[in-house]
Amino acid sequence: MRYFSQWCRASMTSPNEILAAREQRLQQTVQLAKEHNVVCVKANIPGKDKRTPSSYALVRYFARQCDYGQWYKRFNDGADGCYITLLADGDALKLKQCVAQTEENHPLGRFVDIDVWQRGESKSLSRGYMRRCFLCDKPAFVCGRQGGHPTEELLEFIDCKTEEFFRRTVKDACIKALEAELNLHPKFGLVTPLTSGSHPDMNYSMMKAAHGCVADGVAQMFVDGLYGRGNVYRTGIPVGVETEKNMLEVTGGRNAYKGFIFVAGLLAAAFGRSLTTTRGTSAMWDIVRRDTADIEMGKTDSFGDMAYRRYGIGGVKEHARNGFPFVKHVAENVTDDSRSMLKQLVYCAGNMDDTVMLKRAGDMRSFRLLQQKFGTLDTTDGKAVDALDKECIDKGISLGGSADVLASGIFVKILMQQFASV
Ligand SMILES: [Zn+2]
Repeated sequence: MRYFSQWCRASMTSPNEILAAREQRLQQTVQLAKEHNVVCVKANIPGKDKRTPSSYALVRYFARQCDYGQWYKRFNDGADGCYITLLADGDALKLKQCVAQTEENHPLGRFVDIDVWQRGESKSLSRGYMRRCFLCDKPAFVCGRQGGHPTEELLEFIDCKTEEFFRRTVKDACIKALEAELNLHPKFGLVTPLTSGSHPDMNYSMMKAAHGCVADGVAQMFVDGLYGRGNVYRTGIPVGVETEKNMLEVTGGRNAYKGFIFVAGLLAAAFGRSLTTTRGTSAMWDIVRRDTADIEMGKTDSFGDMAYRRYGIGGVKEHARNGFPFVKHVAENVTDDSRSMLKQLVYCAGNMDDTVMLKRAGDMRSFRLLQQKFGTLDTTDGKAVDALDKECIDKGISLGGSADVLASGIFVKILMQQFASV
């Protein structure tokens, strides 16, 4: 009962409110079905409080899974829980077959109802088979009539399975993003499969070995963001510290991903939280901005804080306070093509204040000069790219901050692709 009680207190709903909301949903759907086929995705949450964190994640996830090119989506919220309506053209019966397969075969499929309404009909298409109780496997209506299971038990089962699945989803997305960034070559002093660049104490296999524990920490921050209610930054601090410790153990004390843990962890938590809002995933950037508004600047001995005191450069903390605009830029523009990733990395190095690059450059003047070189670099000119790559390695330069932003942008993009954007 980790989550149920706190949410229950927050939003108790009366049976009448639930019935009224259900009636309204049906009327709306019938209205829409006059003109189009309609797909309605809803979570199957027992009890009085339908608006649990799991329900929002499930509805947004499954609305994306059965989005076979529908051209209109709408998110609705109410006492009967949230739901997403999709309008679809084409063969309604085929559509029904597709969503029925999703309901039956996906590990979380039994927690959602995906109804399909054929154009012109006032009732949804029948499944043609019985849905089964996810606890005892009896037909759901039999189990329901017999009094079934305590609501708490059902809710806990849904939360447990949902959390497990999305934790895995986020971990996989994180590892995929870290690998994409690590495999990029050339990378101006950063570690690649072919060189340790400006990091003689690190190498490819060491970086790769750290991915699992880093992704575990980031996935934990997502789970805390989705199911918790507090400030996502402050909630994430102890998890971030623990994750750093685990990473340092794997790398023998080398800081391979400290910046990434901060950036991606914060974004994962904000992404999880955004799923429970009416605005959906587009709210994540504002959540980061809001929850880091009072982050302490320039107070520690870290190079970033020193740079803030000395040069007024805010580094990664400033980026967070601004809602990570460079990560957003990468997430919106990057593709899985390595030329695209290179272009985004160079864009970051040329435009944002990368304090790792500043540290390696030694002083402000050299840093700005270098930034200018990245700002004007044509990434399709292989010779120019190789020359700047060589210059960075010769001078011991590294674009650690820009690399963290690149990997985080790829990570956010992969996450965004798996949930409906409404
Ligand atoms: Zn049952």
